[in-house]
Amino acid sequence: MRSAVVREFGQPIVLEDRPVPEPGPGQITVRMEASGLCHTDIHAANGDWPVKPAPPFVPGHEGVGIVHAIGTAVTGIELGRRVAVPWLGYACGACRHCLAGWETLCLQQRNTGYSVDGCYAEYFLAEAAFVAKVPAGVDPFDAAPLSCAGVTTYKAIKVGNVRPADLVVISGVGGLGHLAVQYAKIFGGTVAAIDVTDEKLQLAKDLGADLVIDARREDPAEVLQAHGGADVAIGLAVDEKSFATAYAGLRRGGRLVLVALPASGTLSIPVFDTVLNGTSVIGSIVGTRADLADVYSLHAAGRTRVVYETRPLGAVNDAISDVLHGKARARLVLAP
Ligand code: NAD
Ligand code: ZN
Ligand code: ZN
Repeated sequence: MRSAVVREFGQPIVLEDRPVPEPGPGQITVRMEASGLCHTDIHAANGDWPVKPAPPFVPGHEGVGIVHAIGTAVTGIELGRRVAVPWLGYACGACRHCLAGWETLCLQQRNTGYSVDGCYAEYFLAEAAFVAKVPAGVDPFDAAPLSCAGVTTYKAIKVGNVRPADLVVISGVGGLGHLAVQYAKIFGGTVAAIDVTDEKLQLAKDLGADLVIDARREDPAEVLQAHGGADVAIGLAVDEKSFATAYAGLRRGGRLVLVALPASGTLSIPVFDTVLNGTSVIGSIVGTRADLADVYSLHAAGRTRVVYETRPLGAVNDAISDVLHGKARARLVLAP
């Protein structure tokens, strides 16, 4: 089978022939139909973060496909079923985080396309208990971006405690942001979207944003303060400065949810203002299996729209270059 492998950080991804993986106990092998390109895969391939994957590895954690083989000790999943393989590839199920409904914080977790091989391949392995069942009628090319971009932003909106009268800022309208705009509307917010390309600002408008802010031409914090300040800001832009800007655009009692992970990013905030304004700064990492089920239900009910363009698996390096140069439609999805 064809696999896209990171052999060395910062170097082009290499296409290799590898044997189709055999599922071990508790595992399944999935035949790829669609595999989304998340910006996290680019960070992984560049070794951007303090905790690094170990090359050689196969990136990809928005993998959707058909169950091709089933290992021993697997129940509740059948051959031929469509499943998605998300970032949370495994969690222990027994620690205080897992038991409290926060499996995404489990210290024993394994991450697809990072600590274990991921979904940029014609076949990929997964822990059966951590794959998501894609509902009938949800297209695989829609399901792929929903499996990370969707669940991550749905969770971030929940973590930000968005309420109907809130002004919600979506900073960065890429793969994650184009879905965040829609979840913010579903939760009842008035949405302001920030980006730095005309196409993304137009996309935000098309998806229901009430206000768009071009960070190349205006200071988003000033625009937001002119509207009374934001109640919630969701940081999805791969640009360190964008977090400070979003923070400065909050009103008293505002919540800034950090989601994007620019290389060695830091955020410096004044203690005095944060205390007197009662500001919250909250980190949010993907979402649980239950969150992902919600995301698929909303989509199956026709309440979200996934905007994507497909690219062949073999063109993964060009696809990455397009994301980095702002040339990608909201999400690029690789096809076998
Ligand atoms: P993307 O490249 O598709 O989108 C980023 C968007 O930000 C683009 O539209 C870009 O034009 C815009 N942007 C760039 N500079 C900006 C600025 N100064 N102000 C406003 N917008 C700006 O990336 P993505 O796949 O949506 O991922 C975004 C980030 O989220 C990445 O760092 C990724 O690793 C991270 N991520 C985090 C989680 C999590 O669980 N916390 C999950 C998935 C992805
Ligand atoms: Zn992702
Ligand atoms: Zn655990």
